[in-house]
Amino acid sequence: MEEALRATVRRFVEQELRPHVNDWEEAGTFPRALYQQAGALGLLALGFPEADGGIPASYRQLQVLNEELCRTACGGLLASLFSHRIGTPPIVHGGSAELRARVLPGIFSGATISALAVTEPGGGSDVASLAATAERDGDHYIVNGSKTFITSGMRADWITLAVRTGGQGSGAAGVSVLLVPGDTPGLTRAPLKKMGWWCSDTAELHFDHCRVPAANLLGAENAGFTLLMRNFNDERLMLAMHACYLAQACLDEALQWAQQRKTFGKALVQHQAVRHKLVGMATRIEATRAFIDSVVARMDAGGQDVAQVCMLKNFAAQTMQACAGEAVQILGGMGFMRGTVAERVYRDAKVYMIGGGAEEILNDLAARQLGWS
Ligand SMILES: Cc1cc2nc3c(=O)[nH]c(=O)nc-3n(C[C@H](O)[C@H](O)[C@H](O)COP(=O)(O)OP(=O)(O)OC[C@H]3O[C@@H](n4cnc5c(N)ncnc54)[C@H](O)[C@@H]3O)c2cc1C
Repeated sequence: MEEALRATVRRFVEQELRPHVNDWEEAGTFPRALYQQAGALGLLALGFPEADGGIPASYRQLQVLNEELCRTACGGLLASLFSHRIGTPPIVHGGSAELRARVLPGIFSGATISALAVTEPGGGSDVASLAATAERDGDHYIVNGSKTFITSGMRADWITLAVRTGGQGSGAAGVSVLLVPGDTPGLTRAPLKKMGWWCSDTAELHFDHCRVPAANLLGAENAGFTLLMRNFNDERLMLAMHACYLAQACLDEALQWAQQRKTFGKALVQHQAVRHKLVGMATRIEATRAFIDSVVARMDAGGQDVAQVCMLKNFAAQTMQACAGEAVQILGGMGFMRGTVAERVYRDAKVYMIGGGAEEILNDLAARQLGWS
């Protein structure tokens, strides 16, 4: 299964994605039809329960998927095309049978797009303090508030929304999750311009007295925080994989360049200072790969590994940033030009240190999990 999956994804990447990523980055978007293409190959269903129309997969298989997808060297494409990986788990774990049957097949086939909206203009790190509200009114909730930096925010047909149902000051114990249809009256969206991830759809969302059916509540009322925490671990592992394999894309490009480009009568790689940089990159990537392998093996054996996933995500993001920086240096002026892998990954690297939990937040969480605070 692993090798067949690898071959399928590699073909998809080589034929349908890689030739176009520069154009999509420049355009700030990519064709919506890609969701259906990925869906037709079963890539969007991978890792979700069969009963919901998914294709069960191990973390190891998801690792293969992500490693191959990173051959695009385009984190922004992956963030939006696979935004359902963060939007959909709360539906799977907390949605009614009727809701799951109505919503999930469309997401897995790529006909509809799923987003997760937790972060607010007032802050994202302190999830327990979120301010958007949902007040019960008969068989509906009335939703008010704003969300920001939401991946697939402009396009999403289904928004998995974190709201406060427990009243002001209720903290984590007052958070619920609602599934909001994208065409709900009162919902408005605005696109955001970014340092990197240019072709990813990132938006600010405003909810003004939006009526959402109470049947769209995911999990129990005021029990949404646990649902969100469960989501974060998988999201962080996925981001760590992307960071590591995007670092690999930088090494691949830098090595090829160093073998071809000549200065002072010899190839760059013949200069000791340059090949030491390349070995330094390879060392960091090897270490990160081994860390991923060990976490994946333990999670496939049933562990949750929360502390290790936090440490891994931070470590992988640092690997990505360091390797992107070295790759730009080795490419010289060309590394500063749009269209090289090094340039794209360099400007994308920072989001891996912030999205899915900032570095400091994850270090704190790891320490708490290890019983050190
Ligand atoms: C491109 C992009 C896509 C995103 N996609 C999504 C999405 O799809 N859905 C979603 O809900 N969110 C999304 N996010 C939001 C992301 O998860 C948040 O940006 C992140 O959680 C940090 O929240 P914040 O930006 O509000 O920073 P804040 O919470 O305001 O923190 C700012 C900085 O302060 C520091 N800091 C904060 N608290 C502490 C502390 N206790 N100790 C030490 N330092 C601290 C950190 O360095 C942090 O980066 C996305 C963000 C980006 C940039």
